[in-house]
Amino acid sequence: MDSRKPIPLLDLTRQDPELAREIARRVGEVFATGRFVMGPANEEFERAFAAEVGSAHAIGVSSGTDALLVALMALGVGPGDEVITSPFTFFASAGEVSRLNARPVFVDIEPGTFNLDPALLEAAITARTKAIQPVHLYGQCADMRPILEIAGRRGIPVVEDACQAIGAADRGRAAGTLGAMAAFSFYPTKNLGGAGDAGAVTTDDAGTARLLRSLRMHGETERYHHARVGGNFRMDAIQAAVLLAKLPHLKSWNERRRAIAARYGERLSDAALSGRLTLPREAPGRRHVYHQYVVRVPDRDGVREKLAAQGIATAVFYPVPLHRQECFAELGYREGSFPEAEKAAKEVLALPIFAGLTDDEVDRVAEALIDSIA
Ligand SMILES: *Cc1c(COP(=O)(O)O)cnc(C)c1O
Repeated sequence: MDSRKPIPLLDLTRQDPELAREIARRVGEVFATGRFVMGPANEEFERAFAAEVGSAHAIGVSSGTDALLVALMALGVGPGDEVITSPFTFFASAGEVSRLNARPVFVDIEPGTFNLDPALLEAAITARTKAIQPVHLYGQCADMRPILEIAGRRGIPVVEDACQAIGAADRGRAAGTLGAMAAFSFYPTKNLGGAGDAGAVTTDDAGTARLLRSLRMHGETERYHHARVGGNFRMDAIQAAVLLAKLPHLKSWNERRRAIAARYGERLSDAALSGRLTLPREAPGRRHVYHQYVVRVPDRDGVREKLAAQGIATAVFYPVPLHRQECFAELGYREGSFPEAEKAAKEVLALPIFAGLTDDEVDRVAEALIDSIA
């Protein structure tokens, strides 16, 4: 065991004291108003978040999962419908489709960016395709130009799963402004994290925004009058207060993540050149916000163990592609259905990355990684 201090994948306790005071002040205000669900802080946060993303409307909801769910509900996704998404993502991207009794249809990923491969999209579209839901995995946008072009030609709405990608952009256009709607998560480990579960949907369309606001309140149009069946997908006021305190720091935190990624890139470039390691790639014109810094290594589990022995935490996002999940067995996919997703699931390794990680720690991780693949 290495005698030096362990390096965590993410440490949410490394907190700026001034920010902690601002959070306490804003949370105190929530208690002073006594409005704990959908209070004034929520309205303020929705305006600030919409402005941050560059979208006309932001609708705060209870989680990123519920953001995806309510977006698909707004499109009327239901039994018999198909929603196209990536097989290499967090479970919610497809789970929400199934919860609406619709069918997730997977399209394999591009190995370089881990995102849905637009070249394979057209073949997956059927008369039942109700939405296309690309995922901006690890903080990098999917290749949205061809995806939007194909979807537009067919008149199929696009919902971005931007849960890992706040601040990312594709050819100068921000994640969250590219499709009909986008889902964001403020789970504590995300680039903008609350003190519990929260999420948001963004849209430029006023009618869609009204519909989303109704759906998150049991489909109410006015108090106790329900035009449709929705759910309780509201955001707590305390989450809005915490997120309002953190939002002004998001840009600098994302810059720090990019600087850490650049430093890993320099430190690891020799190993990458000799083919022992594949570094994450920022595709041309796409601004990566490195929610995760994910390398590929052939003996991934062995490397993980060696790093753990030196006190360095890593993670695997995600070890089982969604088409191989037990709950999706009935979809009829099998091993070999999506070879790139399956290969990625065996090779990916996420290294520590968060705004509070020091340069020394980055260097130590890089050195240990090089040693472990020597
Ligand atoms: C985190 C995440 C979600 C779900 O967000 P929660 O807030 O945890 O419900 C959905 N999709 C992706 C890609 C995510 O990373």
